[in-house]
Amino acid sequence: MLTRFSLKSQITWLSTSLILMTVILLTASYWFRIADYAESQIERQMYFAQNVLNQNLSSKEQVLITAASVLAADFGFKQAVATRDKNTIDSVLINHGKRIKADLMMLLDLEGKLLTTGTADQFAKTDVENSIQILPLQGVYAQILSIDDKVFQVIVVPVKAPRAIAYVVIGFEFDQLVLTQLKELVSLELTLIKNDTIVQSSFDESDIANQPLLENNLQSESLLLSTSDYFHQTIAFGGSSEVSVVLSASLVEIHQDFNRLISSILAIAIVVIVIAIGFSRILSRGISTPLTILMKLTKKIGSGNLDVPKLTKSLPREFSELYQGFSVMGSAIEHREAEIKYQAERDLLTGLFNRHTILTQIEGYLRNDINLALVTFNIKAFKVLNDTVGVANGDAILKEIADRLQVFIGKLDSQVSAYMLAARTNSDEFLLSIPMSSVDNVESFIQLLQLELERPYWLGDVKINLSLYFGVANSVEHGVEAERLMRRSSMAVAAADEEQVFVRYYQQGEDEAYLYKIRLIDELESALESDNSPLFMNYQPKLNFKTGEIDKLEALIRWINKEGDFVNPEMFVGLAEKAGLIVTLTRWVILHVIQQIAQWNKAGYHFQVSINLSAQDIQHEQFVDYLLDTVRKYQIETTQITLELTERDLAENEGLVATRLTYLKTLGFEISVDDYGIGQSSLAKLKTLPVDELKIDKCFILTLDQCEKDQDIVSSTILLGHKLGLRVVAEGVENKESLALLTSFNCDYAQGYYLSRPLTADKLIQWYDNYESLI
Ligand code: C2E
Ligand code: CA
Ligand code: CA
Repeated sequence: MLTRFSLKSQITWLSTSLILMTVILLTASYWFRIADYAESQIERQMYFAQNVLNQNLSSKEQVLITAASVLAADFGFKQAVATRDKNTIDSVLINHGKRIKADLMMLLDLEGKLLTTGTADQFAKTDVENSIQILPLQGVYAQILSIDDKVFQVIVVPVKAPRAIAYVVIGFEFDQLVLTQLKELVSLELTLIKNDTIVQSSFDESDIANQPLLENNLQSESLLLSTSDYFHQTIAFGGSSEVSVVLSASLVEIHQDFNRLISSILAIAIVVIVIAIGFSRILSRGISTPLTILMKLTKKIGSGNLDVPKLTKSLPREFSELYQGFSVMGSAIEHREAEIKYQAERDLLTGLFNRHTILTQIEGYLRNDINLALVTFNIKAFKVLNDTVGVANGDAILKEIADRLQVFIGKLDSQVSAYMLAARTNSDEFLLSIPMSSVDNVESFIQLLQLELERPYWLGDVKINLSLYFGVANSVEHGVEAERLMRRSSMAVAAADEEQVFVRYYQQGEDEAYLYKIRLIDELESALESDNSPLFMNYQPKLNFKTGEIDKLEALIRWINKEGDFVNPEMFVGLAEKAGLIVTLTRWVILHVIQQIAQWNKAGYHFQVSINLSAQDIQHEQFVDYLLDTVRKYQIETTQITLELTERDLAENEGLVATRLTYLKTLGFEISVDDYGIGQSSLAKLKTLPVDELKIDKCFILTLDQCEKDQDIVSSTILLGHKLGLRVVAEGVENKESLALLTSFNCDYAQGYYLSRPLTADKLIQWYDNYESLI
């Protein structure tokens, strides 16, 4: 509910209502206290008035008694009374009355009957007689007496001669004048009431009508609620049963006081409220302004703008601390974002861009029609180097290359270097993007770079010399599509590596071949998994010179792809090696060859079959187990399998390969060195390996009959092979003459088209069944 209102108006409302409440409570409590005070004040006034009234009555009583006593003691008067001399009595009464300023002078007989009216002749005789009935006739006595509508204080004194013979009544009237005097004395209005009628009052005629003077419960009304101008109290008057007096205290002043108080409280309240509203506005602004600032700030941060501006306004301490907090948070996030961005964009080892970033940047340049030369370079035999010096040192070298690269770029003209991009795109592959307009000649640029990067590297005291290969593709000749251009530059470097040249430019068509290869790898992968495989084995026979028999075969894989094309095995085997598919491929071959041997065994054909392996196979952990398991599963002899490895394969990871081969040999498998003669290994080295057979590479055999040099090489190789206890196979025998030469060189086996091309298993058996010895 509250949330609908702004903080500002909430604070204003709260303070205003608090003040209002305080004012109301204060006023109420003042009201109660004032009413209370006024009530007690009036009560006191009433009490005082009563006393004054009584004193006044008694002092007058005294005067009356003295006056009456003097009269009653007057001898002449006594005599006149005794003789009932009415004339004398009257004149004495009137004279005496005048003297003492009495308003009433009467003489009563002992029964209380009026003997003479004296000054009471103003009233009707019956009225006087009725009134005086109440007068007690015994000794001296004071009494309030009302006759008609007049009230008197009277004194009754016996006239003694010496016994009482009559009573003198002397009275003073409570007229308007007396009441006014009394009113001045007690500060109250006085009203005399007789039998529920007003006899005399100090009020003005006009006021009397407005006052509830004759109501009974005059005192019960509380001052708090009273709206009348007077507070009235009726008291007995001088012991009279007939006449009473109403004392009326004016409330006008109290009401005025109270109104004044209320209005001044209200005035103060209004001033305070106005001030409070002002203050609460300031206070709420003091809160809401910083809140607004902070809110804007969080929105800004939320929207990703992390640059928190310096605080220009002065805010309350808590807020400025909060602001500082936001500012710190903003820069922390900014820092982290920058870090994340850096990690996402950079190659963490070298600090150069990563592949993805440079690709994006190149895309941008090409989009803006900036022609680029992409130079990819890698390190010759980095894998070997890494194995030799350890990964940490390898990394240090890569880092040093990156550092030198950056220094090199930094030294260039700043306009050139500004547009140059450098990235590490692969383990030892770096990519440089050069705007073509900024260098005159890419090749000389590369030469300078090579000079810098091929300076010796030092790992502690150890000096390392590196050779780099460079591959170049440019957007003018090789397309403006970033990804493709990068691939082409990378292919060029791979070609440089293969062709052992320092720099190689991408050549048209290489990419297509590359893509074809990629597709082939995909197809090969599914071919290896497929039950109805487009792969199959061919077998090429080997002729045993000693027996003239065919007792050995070489298993060669074949693949007719989806398009029905024969795929060159050398090519796809090479691809499988690069794509890490070779282990799977070899397993496939092993399984199918062993199944075939088992089948032949059953059919009575006993061949020794060679299987081609690659370096990766023999190094693979499960290779030996798989081979052995399969041999056992199909119950063939291990001696029926020869494993062919090229010289290069044997050189890789020599120690492990030698151990594995030795183990395989002890199990009965035979080991053959394929393509012998084109690699670098010496015969002496072969001596240390558990080899059974040498296959002289076909390049020496194909034209053996025509090339004397080949004949020398082949004949001496056979001789040396025999000396080392090895069986020698000549591969690529294409004619009778070559076969004859090999016979004369004492070669052990011959393999080649002259005998037979590689054949499917069925064809091989057909061929074998019809075979007639060629020697
Ligand atoms: P390689 O192991 O040296 O196989 C011998 C190659 O020489 C075979 O070629 C064979 O057809 C060919 N050849 C045999 N006699 C003659 C001849 O008289 N004249 C000529 N011009 N060539 C002859 P292929 O079958 O094309 O195999 C090529 C290479 O592919 C093989 O060379 C081997 O390195 C690889 N390869 C073939 N099958 C497999 C296999 O199952 N596994 C592995 N790892 N590699 C294989
Ligand atoms: Ca072979
Ligand atoms: Ca070969």
